Amino acid sequence: MGCDEPLTLLRERGQREVFCGLTSIVWLHRRMPDAFFLVVGSRTCAHLIQSAAGVMIFAEPRFGTAILGERDLAGLADANEELDRVVMQLLERRPEIRTLFLVGSCPSEVIKLDLDNAAQRLSQRYLPRVRVVSYSGSGIETTFTQGEDNALTALVPLLPSSSDESLLVVGTMADQVEDQLYRLFNQLGLPRVQILPPRRSTDLPSVGANTRILLSQPYLSATTRALQARGAQLIGAPYPLGVKGTTAWIQAAAAAFGLDASLVQPHLEAAQQRGGKAVARYREQLQGKSVFLLPDSQLEIPLARFLHQECGMVLQEVGTPYLDRLLMKAELDQLPANTTLSEGQHVDRQLERVRSARPDLVVCGLGLANPLEAEGMATKWSIELVFSPIQGYEQAGDLAELFARPLARRQRLHL
Ligand code: SF4
Repeated sequence: MGCDEPLTLLRERGQREVFCGLTSIVWLHRRMPDAFFLVVGSRTCAHLIQSAAGVMIFAEPRFGTAILGERDLAGLADANEELDRVVMQLLERRPEIRTLFLVGSCPSEVIKLDLDNAAQRLSQRYLPRVRVVSYSGSGIETTFTQGEDNALTALVPLLPSSSDESLLVVGTMADQVEDQLYRLFNQLGLPRVQILPPRRSTDLPSVGANTRILLSQPYLSATTRALQARGAQLIGAPYPLGVKGTTAWIQAAAAAFGLDASLVQPHLEAAQQRGGKAVARYREQLQGKSVFLLPDSQLEIPLARFLHQECGMVLQEVGTPYLDRLLMKAELDQLPANTTLSEGQHVDRQLERVRSARPDLVVCGLGLANPLEAEGMATKWSIELVFSPIQGYEQAGDLAELFARPLARRQRLHL
């Protein structure tokens, strides 16, 4: 299937309702247990992270907030001195920390606190025990998935150079998903497989002209460009969502190293069958149902492809916070002709279109879900898809179930 007619693209520029980049700390800190994320922000920032993390997981606190007081915000105190003191206390108390991320916020940006400089100064003081890195998670600059993009971009200059052949898988996935996919790559005999972000923050992958990048998440635009600037080559592929997406993703990686598809296919068959069966259970409930995806996580285009291709859903509109054609090319090629895409957010106009389309399911941000549910529409929170293990064959059924569940719940309410 390919799109032989151009996609309709609406460009929306208006009010946004998306979590800021600080939210990504919730999954990044789980990924790198020897790292600590110190938000330099306000009480609002502290509340945001605590409630996001508290709702989604239970974990050792590996994140915290250095709260800028009113004196800092008014420029009356030296915020750098205060930050140095907080970092010193933190590192004394937590000897296991190996990488400290200073995460910028709206308040630190407003007072123009230079966290890049602070990170360099603190790295000089604490290396080799702890490396200090900074990036922005502020709501002025980032949406929640861009937080991960900025964190990984900040790591790229630290990666050692190497001209060895390697496959670099980029993007955070749940550990069990990564293990499954890693095993498959090993069975295929691909050269060295490396992962960014690594599980131990100090095990940074190497990069160079013979590194091929395979993205596991579609929101890593800045990281991709930074890796390309270090000589790495991007493998064009869809994302590993669903059986077809996962197959195309693995095949693209294999092809990049000269492996023929027919040699790869026998290694995938058993997992493809398991995944196909698991999706089929939910396809019955999803087939023919309409879905409207509002822009939120940047996962919308790959999800739309999966919902259409593997679950038989009808795409009414596919919104994305921004459209990076380099990263989305293989996905766009598989959307049905005449799909309406929208880029950017204009909440009021988009809600008007949702109301007139009356889809069976709306995929949207948390803030929009309740009002739409109150108007009688079934919704799915996009952010849940970022927190859940959804990539790969073994998770394809769970991914379909995440969309079938709200439909089943609404049906039960109407019985
Ligand atoms: S960074 Fe900005 S948007 Fe995010 S919680 Fe802090 S103040 Fe709010």
